[in-house]
Amino acid sequence: MRNKPTFQLSASELLDIEQAIHHASQPEVRVSAIALRLLHKGHSVEAAAELVNTSPTVVRKWRRAWRKGGLCALTNPNPSLDNPDTLLSRLTALQKISIDLTTAATFDDLCRRAIEMGLQLLGFDRLGLFFLTDKPDFMIPSFGTDEGGQLRDERQPLPAQWNDTQDLQLALARQQDLIIRFDCDLYDNKGNIVGKGWNVMAALWDGNKMTGFLAADNLMNHRPLTDSDIQILRLYGLTLGCLCSVKRTAETLLKERNMLRGVMDSTLDLIYVKDVQSRVVMTNNIAIQNAQGTATLDDMVGLTDFDYLPEYMAQRFYAEEQHLLQTGIPILNREEPGLDENGNAITYLTTKVPLRDAQGEIIGLVGVSRDISDVKRTEEQNLRLMLEHERVEMMEQLVSNLSHDLKTPLSVIKTSLYLIDQINDPIRQKLKLESIKEQTERLERLIQDVLTVSRLDQSAQPIRQPVDMVSLIRSVEANLRPRAEAKQLVLNLELASELPYVSGNAEDLWRVVANLVENAINYTPAGTVSIEVKAQAAGIVTIVRDSGIGIAKEQLARIFERFYRADTARNMQHGGTGLGLSIVKMITEQHGGHIKVESEPGSGTYFQVWLPVISSDHASVMTAPQPITPEV
Ligand code: ADP
Repeated sequence: MRNKPTFQLSASELLDIEQAIHHASQPEVRVSAIALRLLHKGHSVEAAAELVNTSPTVVRKWRRAWRKGGLCALTNPNPSLDNPDTLLSRLTALQKISIDLTTAATFDDLCRRAIEMGLQLLGFDRLGLFFLTDKPDFMIPSFGTDEGGQLRDERQPLPAQWNDTQDLQLALARQQDLIIRFDCDLYDNKGNIVGKGWNVMAALWDGNKMTGFLAADNLMNHRPLTDSDIQILRLYGLTLGCLCSVKRTAETLLKERNMLRGVMDSTLDLIYVKDVQSRVVMTNNIAIQNAQGTATLDDMVGLTDFDYLPEYMAQRFYAEEQHLLQTGIPILNREEPGLDENGNAITYLTTKVPLRDAQGEIIGLVGVSRDISDVKRTEEQNLRLMLEHERVEMMEQLVSNLSHDLKTPLSVIKTSLYLIDQINDPIRQKLKLESIKEQTERLERLIQDVLTVSRLDQSAQPIRQPVDMVSLIRSVEANLRPRAEAKQLVLNLELASELPYVSGNAEDLWRVVANLVENAINYTPAGTVSIEVKAQAAGIVTIVRDSGIGIAKEQLARIFERFYRADTARNMQHGGTGLGLSIVKMITEQHGGHIKVESEPGSGTYFQVWLPVISSDHASVMTAPQPITPEV
């Protein structure tokens, strides 16, 4: 005698059970159908087992089978044996559909054909496809079937909210392949109930993620659900899930690729990707246009610079790129020569960076080159204008300085001449003549210096010959010693022996030393002037030192300027032109040397001129040094 169940079933639950029995085609599976329906309604395993008079273990077994989607327990436990032809022919149809779907042009085309062919070949009344969204109750409908069995486009711009999602949520939570409902309401695409019957939903999978469902029902023919329906739908769902995810990925990639190309082609810069052998992998349109003989990306892929650039350019770029690829050191904003689409020479500003794979290995490079020819031309023009402007300013300065410096001696000469004419005293006349002579010499010196400055301005490179600095200094000393002695100054010489020659213009170099020694004598009221020469750092250094008045710190930086005089009044007494040190600096620099000055007001000044010596192999082909005999 069976025990009375210890729990109460509601009227609707009893109705459910009745329907389960009604739909379970095989009498032997009705019991499990009832038990599963109870579980589905939320009753415990024990309660369901008690009602159908079996053990909870058996009910659990049924539930396991049901969860795996094998709802055959509700229909035929061994259907393929029961009706092998139907299953086999549907499997063959499924295979055909799958192959056909691989040729779908787009994702939407794939979905449309999946429903269309499914209806034609798999024998379902209605099929529908929808995709899951991030929000649990919202779906994206795709293609479906109308109430007359025809394909219906159910796509819409926004996800749709589904009311009847209880079973769906349960399936999602359990990650269940199938949802099978009997005697449920069947809907149209607007959510209206259009009939009653079974409804099976097979999950679509993308890897291990559920992406949507393929649903089928028996709205029109009311045919009972068979195991073959379930298995075919389940298989079709799996296949369709894979195809959809592949298509979607391919479309996303294509979209990204097109976007990337769009971005690359919308710039005027050349953009290119090259492999480790500097072969083009990808470029934008402008780079294709610039490479002569290529019209499409396909023409360009696989080529190297050697295929469309002059050999010397290709060689240079290849060497740079290989260095980058081997060291990983990028090329940043480098000015490089190039050719435009008509083969004209242009200048590019180029940046190339290494391209690495996920492991960090360099697999190529990405380059961007911008045509900066216009900018360069403007820059050069501006520079030329600036230099011209500077030259004009200098000329103006020179003329104004010069006219001032000419005026003073000329007015002295004029006054002296007038006085000579007016006075009869021969001694005073002689004094005036002396003054005229002095001013004339000063004018001559000024003109000499101006001419020298102008000559040096014109020629950037001096005539080169070997110059022996020791004999040059001896010559300066011999020339200026009388002046030093006239001021009772001590003139010291410290000359190293066996010094190598410097390469240059002996007369100009003589002027360098003479100007420095002359200044030292001029600006030393009493004391010592010494000249030293020695080898230093691949060159010869000449030092002129005095114990004179020195130069104030703030003036030191300016003494090499043209016409600059630290103390105009005192300087004028010495008859200096204010050009001496600027001439010294110009000559030194034209000879590849440099000049340094240190000074302490009241203690003296120290000038140091460094000149490079002739390298030994160069010296052998040069002629012997010239005798040095210029005059101050
Ligand atoms: P100048 O022909 O007037 O001497 P320079 O160009 O040779 O012109 O020198 C510029 C200025 O530098 C001089 O006016 C002087 O004031 C200062 N100067 C140059 N050499 C010395 C020195 N040895 N001692 C002190 N002042 C010096």
